[in-house]
Amino acid sequence: MRRKFLKIITASLGTLIIFPHKFIYAETKKIINQNLTEEQKEILFNEGTERPFTSALIHEKRKGFYHCANCGNKLFSSESKFDSGTGWPSFSEALPGAFKTKVDFSFGMMRTEYHCAKCGAHHGHVFNDGPTKTKKRFCNNGLCLIFKPST
Ligand SMILES: [Zn+2]
Repeated sequence: MRRKFLKIITASLGTLIIFPHKFIYAETKKIINQNLTEEQKEILFNEGTERPFTSALIHEKRKGFYHCANCGNKLFSSESKFDSGTGWPSFSEALPGAFKTKVDFSFGMMRTEYHCAKCGAHHGHVFNDGPTKTKKRFCNNGLCLIFKPST
Protein backbone atom coordinates (compact mmCIF):
# COMPACT_ATOMS: atom_id res chain seq x y z
CA MET A 1 0.00 0.00 0.00
CA ARG A 2 2.74 2.38 1.07
CA ARG A 3 4.84 1.44 -1.94
CA LYS A 4 1.91 2.15 -4.24
CA PHE A 5 1.42 5.52 -2.60
CA LEU A 6 5.10 6.38 -3.05
CA LYS A 7 4.88 5.29 -6.66
CA ILE A 8 2.00 7.69 -7.26
CA ILE A 9 3.82 10.56 -5.52
CA THR A 10 6.97 9.86 -7.53
CA ALA A 11 5.02 9.73 -10.76
CA SER A 12 3.30 13.03 -9.96
CA LEU A 13 6.60 14.73 -9.15
CA GLY A 14 8.02 13.24 -12.31
CA THR A 15 5.21 14.81 -14.29
CA LEU A 16 5.92 18.19 -12.72
CA ILE A 17 9.63 18.02 -13.47
CA ILE A 18 9.59 16.35 -16.88
CA PHE A 19 6.37 17.81 -18.19
CA PRO A 20 5.97 21.30 -16.74
CA HIS A 21 3.92 22.18 -19.83
CA LYS A 22 1.13 20.04 -18.39
CA PHE A 23 0.70 22.68 -15.71
CA ILE A 24 0.93 25.74 -17.89
CA TYR A 25 -0.97 24.07 -20.69
CA ALA A 26 -4.36 25.17 -19.39
CA GLU A 27 -3.50 28.78 -20.14
CA THR A 28 -2.86 28.05 -23.80
CA LYS A 29 -6.37 26.69 -24.29
CA LYS A 30 -9.03 29.12 -25.33
CA ILE A 31 -12.66 29.17 -24.31
CA ILE A 32 -14.52 29.69 -27.56
CA ASN A 33 -17.98 28.47 -26.59
CA GLN A 34 -19.14 30.89 -23.88
CA ASN A 35 -22.06 28.63 -22.99
CA LEU A 36 -19.96 25.78 -21.59
CA THR A 37 -20.99 24.55 -18.14
CA GLU A 38 -18.53 24.43 -15.22
CA GLU A 39 -18.42 20.65 -15.58
CA GLN A 40 -17.53 20.89 -19.27
CA LYS A 41 -14.82 23.48 -18.54
CA GLU A 42 -13.31 21.25 -15.84
CA ILE A 43 -12.90 18.44 -18.39
CA LEU A 44 -11.97 20.48 -21.46
CA PHE A 45 -9.50 22.84 -19.80
CA ASN A 46 -8.41 21.03 -16.67
CA GLU A 47 -8.29 17.48 -18.04
CA GLY A 48 -11.06 16.29 -15.75
CA THR A 49 -13.04 13.11 -16.37
CA GLU A 50 -16.81 12.78 -16.29
CA ARG A 51 -18.34 10.01 -14.21
CA PRO A 52 -18.73 6.81 -16.28
CA PHE A 53 -22.16 5.84 -17.64
CA THR A 54 -23.44 9.42 -17.33
CA SER A 55 -23.30 10.49 -20.97
CA ALA A 56 -26.37 10.10 -23.17
CA LEU A 57 -23.99 9.83 -26.13
CA ILE A 58 -22.91 6.35 -25.03
CA HIS A 59 -26.17 5.05 -26.50
CA GLU A 60 -26.26 7.36 -29.53
CA LYS A 61 -26.57 5.16 -32.62
CA ARG A 62 -27.65 7.57 -35.33
CA LYS A 63 -25.40 8.41 -38.28
CA GLY A 64 -23.62 11.71 -38.08
CA PHE A 65 -20.55 13.46 -36.75
CA TYR A 66 -19.23 14.30 -33.32
CA HIS A 67 -17.85 17.81 -32.89
CA CYS A 68 -15.75 19.58 -30.24
CA ALA A 69 -18.09 21.18 -27.68
CA ASN A 70 -15.74 24.14 -27.42
CA CYS A 71 -14.83 25.04 -31.01
CA GLY A 72 -17.05 22.88 -33.21
CA ASN A 73 -14.15 21.04 -34.86
CA LYS A 74 -15.37 17.80 -36.51
CA LEU A 75 -13.72 14.92 -34.59
CA PHE A 76 -15.40 11.55 -35.13
CA SER A 77 -17.75 9.90 -37.57
CA SER A 78 -20.55 7.72 -36.19
CA GLU A 79 -19.01 4.98 -38.39
CA SER A 80 -16.12 4.62 -35.93
CA LYS A 81 -18.26 4.53 -32.78
CA PHE A 82 -18.56 1.30 -30.80
CA ASP A 83 -19.81 0.15 -27.43
CA SER A 84 -16.73 -0.46 -25.28
CA GLY A 85 -18.67 -1.11 -22.08
CA THR A 86 -16.37 1.31 -20.23
CA GLY A 87 -19.04 3.94 -19.62
CA TRP A 88 -17.67 6.55 -22.02
CA PRO A 89 -18.39 7.13 -25.71
CA SER A 90 -15.72 5.14 -27.61
CA PHE A 91 -14.37 5.35 -31.13
CA SER A 92 -11.98 3.21 -33.18
CA GLU A 93 -10.54 6.16 -35.08
CA ALA A 94 -10.66 9.93 -35.24
CA LEU A 95 -11.06 12.01 -38.37
CA PRO A 96 -7.67 12.90 -39.91
CA GLY A 97 -5.99 15.82 -38.12
CA ALA A 98 -8.76 16.13 -35.52
CA PHE A 99 -6.52 15.65 -32.48
CA LYS A 100 -3.04 16.09 -31.13
CA THR A 101 -1.70 13.77 -28.45
CA LYS A 102 0.67 13.88 -25.54
CA VAL A 103 1.93 11.35 -23.02
CA ASP A 104 0.15 11.70 -19.68
CA PHE A 105 1.75 10.32 -16.50
CA SER A 106 -0.99 11.42 -14.08
CA PHE A 107 -2.35 8.96 -11.49
CA GLY A 108 0.85 6.91 -11.79
CA MET A 109 -0.16 5.58 -15.22
CA MET A 110 1.32 6.19 -18.62
CA ARG A 111 -1.49 7.07 -20.97
CA THR A 112 -1.86 8.94 -24.24
CA GLU A 113 -3.97 12.04 -23.77
CA TYR A 114 -5.56 13.63 -26.83
CA HIS A 115 -6.87 17.12 -27.36
CA CYS A 116 -8.61 19.06 -30.10
CA ALA A 117 -6.09 20.12 -32.76
CA LYS A 118 -7.99 23.35 -33.32
CA CYS A 119 -8.61 24.72 -29.80
CA GLY A 120 -6.39 22.53 -27.56
CA ALA A 121 -9.27 21.38 -25.34
CA HIS A 122 -8.85 17.98 -23.67
CA HIS A 123 -11.17 15.20 -24.85
CA GLY A 124 -9.92 11.89 -23.48
CA HIS A 125 -7.30 9.16 -23.70
CA VAL A 126 -6.53 6.76 -26.53
CA PHE A 127 -5.62 3.12 -25.87
CA ASN A 128 -4.28 0.34 -28.10
CA ASP A 129 -6.85 -2.30 -27.13
CA GLY A 130 -9.64 -1.48 -29.59
CA PRO A 131 -11.71 -4.33 -31.06
CA THR A 132 -11.44 -3.28 -34.72
CA LYS A 133 -8.56 -3.38 -37.18
CA THR A 134 -7.32 0.07 -36.06
CA LYS A 135 -6.72 -1.44 -32.59
CA LYS A 136 -7.42 2.03 -31.21
CA ARG A 137 -9.93 2.92 -28.52
CA PHE A 138 -10.57 6.63 -28.18
CA CYS A 139 -12.21 6.97 -24.78
CA ASN A 140 -13.96 10.34 -25.00
CA ASN A 141 -15.79 12.35 -22.36
CA GLY A 142 -19.34 12.76 -23.63
CA LEU A 143 -19.53 16.30 -22.26
CA CYS A 144 -16.76 17.36 -24.66
CA LEU A 145 -18.78 16.29 -27.68
CA ILE A 146 -21.69 17.66 -29.64
CA PHE A 147 -23.41 15.16 -31.89
CA LYS A 148 -24.87 16.39 -35.16
CA PRO A 149 -26.98 13.73 -36.89
CA SER A 150 -26.81 13.68 -40.68
CA THR A 151 -30.03 14.63 -42.33
ZN1 LIG B 1 -11.93 22.21 -30.18
